[in-house]
Amino acid sequence: MAAKSQPSVPKAKSGDSVTNDRTASQGQWGRAWEVDWFSLGSIIFLLLCAPFIVYYFIMACDQYSCALTGPVVDIATGRARLSDIWAKTPPITRKAAQLYTLWVTFQVLLYTSLPDFCHKFLPGYVGGIQEGAVTPAGVVNKYQINGLQAWLLTHLLWFANAHLLSWFSPTIIFDNWIPLLWCANILGYAVSTFAMVKGYFFPTSARDCKFTGNFFYNYMMGVEFNPRIGKWFDFKLFFNGRPGIVAWTLINLSFAAKQRELHGHVTNAMVLVNVLQAIYVIDFFWNETWYLKTIDICHDHFGWYLGWGDCVWLPYLYTLQGLYLVYHPVQLSTLHAVGVLLLGLVGYYIFRVANHQKDLFRRTDGRCLIWGKKPKVIECSYTSADGQRHHSKLLVSGFWGVARHFNYVGDLMGSLAYCLACGGGHLLPYFYIIYMAILLTHRCLRDEHRCASKYGRDWERYTAAVPYRLLPGIF
Ligand code: NDP
Repeated sequence: MAAKSQPSVPKAKSGDSVTNDRTASQGQWGRAWEVDWFSLGSIIFLLLCAPFIVYYFIMACDQYSCALTGPVVDIATGRARLSDIWAKTPPITRKAAQLYTLWVTFQVLLYTSLPDFCHKFLPGYVGGIQEGAVTPAGVVNKYQINGLQAWLLTHLLWFANAHLLSWFSPTIIFDNWIPLLWCANILGYAVSTFAMVKGYFFPTSARDCKFTGNFFYNYMMGVEFNPRIGKWFDFKLFFNGRPGIVAWTLINLSFAAKQRELHGHVTNAMVLVNVLQAIYVIDFFWNETWYLKTIDICHDHFGWYLGWGDCVWLPYLYTLQGLYLVYHPVQLSTLHAVGVLLLGLVGYYIFRVANHQKDLFRRTDGRCLIWGKKPKVIECSYTSADGQRHHSKLLVSGFWGVARHFNYVGDLMGSLAYCLACGGGHLLPYFYIIYMAILLTHRCLRDEHRCASKYGRDWERYTAAVPYRLLPGIF
């Protein structure tokens, strides 16, 4: 079942010299048109369970000092009932609702009302108005890139408050962590539902909408490709970057402040988690223009997966290491700390260089040097839904010649470093590396499926030239 589809893509214009499989690429590029039983089952499972998974982790920290098995064991042995655990869970509060509203409003204002000025004085930084990739319908959107500026201003205000203004305690995020979780859920569901309704009734670009005929799939994976309000408020760019990634470093700072308040000092593990994750976050904003060319923007539609995921999953589960260290102030030996730092930095180096190589290669249309040499290239072509033929190139040099997604390997090394900073006392901080391994392996398969549809035989030539996906000789 569930394979009901309503593709309404215009037919491709005929042309003789398309090198890929035109039929396969037409209309298949982007997220799926059809839903199989396995995908549908996974989606319903996630829609039902993901909010409880997040709640379980945060509650386990709040009530069981981050022992993941604690609640299950208590319930199984009759020491506690679900209702007891629920009764001890802090409810939503007026203060949390006000804080969250203020936070989101502030980020909306920074995003919409303050054109980028960082690119005017930061050498090498690309901000201001930039173009995204060609959408499946052949549209090229313009974006106001001002995330670095929003991050800087938000953090300046945070430090000004902590050291001068004292408007609020730096522990404010930790102190309201569960009440804020309810607020984040409300926003996550509201924005996903709004995006779905908008996709049906007033889409920004109707030709870039996809309907599978399955309500749950449409809700989860999104209908609209790039929903916008007005000319500039882009849902994908805003929700991923602002309530999600700007918050990441603030949350960690709040956890560090709480650790100091409770234990009198900030441990080297907390410093490592703050520093390594801050590098990742600053990198994201420094390269926000590059983000326009990633799968989130180029392939994924905006549904619950991105809307709720950015509001709830990312800020709550990506910050578990810092939360754990509030309850367990791990102080690492120098050797352990240096090992974690090196792993994190090498992972970051691979992640950044691999992403940079592809970005440079695509921006210069291959007229660049990769590892000091002219890059090896596979010429390819594809057809967008408006029937236009486009040409592109696949890089076969540098990290893209080592494996087809070596950038993910760097990301995984960095993720493992955050977890190892928490020592071996509990499983909870290791959730991140388990999740990232599943996410990136699945993403790799998803991406390759799309690239195969988009480029057809040209993609086969690339997989023949670079046979491994992530790790040479293994996968
Ligand atoms: P990539 O940056 O790897 O982009 C994949 C796309 O790049 C493909 O769809 C294809 O797009 C193009 N491409 C593939 N192979 C080549 C090649 N050889 N030469 C040129 N272009 C190629 O994927 P993501 O967007 O998933 O990841 C970006 C980064 O973000 C990664 O480093 C990842 O680790 C990280 N990430 C982090 C997450 C987190 O939660 N922390 C979540 C997701 C990603 P095209 O159609 O343009 O050809």
